[in-house]
Amino acid sequence: MPRLNREWHAQYRMPERATPEQRIAWHLEHARHCRCRPIPEGVRVLMEARGIALPEPEED
Ligand SMILES: [Zn+2]
Repeated sequence: MPRLNREWHAQYRMPERATPEQRIAWHLEHARHCRCRPIPEGVRVLMEARGIALPEPEED
């Protein structure tokens, strides 16, 4: 899988005024399909507050 999954990004856009739930959902999907950037600290905090497990980081 390429580091940047262009097809995935073309299909899955972050909504302009994303709610915390939308940001979490987007980043969870993103982490599964693309590795262009890690989950931001702010989103990790939102996930932890909701008891959502962080996806395992993949080593290159
Ligand atoms: Zn990406």
